[in-house]
Amino acid sequence: MTAQIIDGVALSASIREQIAQRAAALTAAGRRPGLAVVLVGEDPASQVYVRNKVSACEKAGFKSELHRMPADTTQAALLAKVDELNKDSSIHGILVQLPLPAHLSSHDVIEAIASEKDVDGFHVSNAGLLMTGKPLFRPCTPYGVMKMLELTGINLRGAEAVVIGASNIVGKPQAMLLLQAGATVTLCNSKTKDLKAHCQRADVLVVATGRAKMITGDMIKPGAVVIDVGINRMDDGKLCGDVDFDSAKEVAAWITPVPGGVGPMTITMLLQNTLEAVERSEVAS
Ligand code: NDP
Repeated sequence: MTAQIIDGVALSASIREQIAQRAAALTAAGRRPGLAVVLVGEDPASQVYVRNKVSACEKAGFKSELHRMPADTTQAALLAKVDELNKDSSIHGILVQLPLPAHLSSHDVIEAIASEKDVDGFHVSNAGLLMTGKPLFRPCTPYGVMKMLELTGINLRGAEAVVIGASNIVGKPQAMLLLQAGATVTLCNSKTKDLKAHCQRADVLVVATGRAKMITGDMIKPGAVVIDVGINRMDDGKLCGDVDFDSAKEVAAWITPVPGGVGPMTITMLLQNTLEAVERSEVAS
């Protein structure tokens, strides 16, 4: 079997077109979607992510603001910036790029973002709403994975879904969204015994560990859907996922590539969340 590719670039392009149309309608009604991104320090990977996010906003017709702050920014100065953006009615979404420099508390900064502007969905009240099945914002990466599964026509009701990696930003919310879609979910971490046995049961396997190519074809159930969230840079400078694509594609029915899979969908869902924030703020006002 050679798996069919779930093309995150193509899916993103069509969703972003719809988002741009909705943004144009909102702008015409005097409600242009606005996203503020706060970047503290000079981390090279963060600079690239932030640039991509700002550029995607601009292409979709959003107002986008990039607030750069120096690496030695104090917690008080960062909280003051968040407060200023919370009060700015032209800004509907606020994203503080992580990781922050070590002297800053990401938890306290995320908690300071108004929950109705928390387009990353990391605020504890948004995590709680997701947990109780009433999400306001779904974290962008797992939201993008769910969109990919939906648009590919994968039936999740009763499916065995296995998520490898249990971080707050990917694995845990991913497990919750799959559960809410009717899947039977197993959430694995670095202490999981016999990871291979769990993987081999999965109709849908989502991998988000940050360990390059750790999931190989022999660990995958024939005909499974394999979603690779990982982004790892190899010695030759090329990117690869947490799944060994070459062996996995011979066993799976569907697979996402890296790059060109989950990555573009993550940014698309950031736009989607910002748009949803504007639409909700309209209803509220
Ligand atoms: P974290 O480092 O926060 O979490 C990694 C998780 O994987 C932890 O739960 C850890 O377990 C688990 N893990 C690590 N090694 C193993 C192993 N050998 N077997 C089983 N589980 C293991 O990572 P993130 O969730 O932030 O990111 C994961 C990957 O996804 C990274 O490659 C990251 O770059 C990528 N990513 C991609 C995005 C995209 O847009 N495509 C967005 C966000 C992340 P434990 O809890 O026991 O430590």
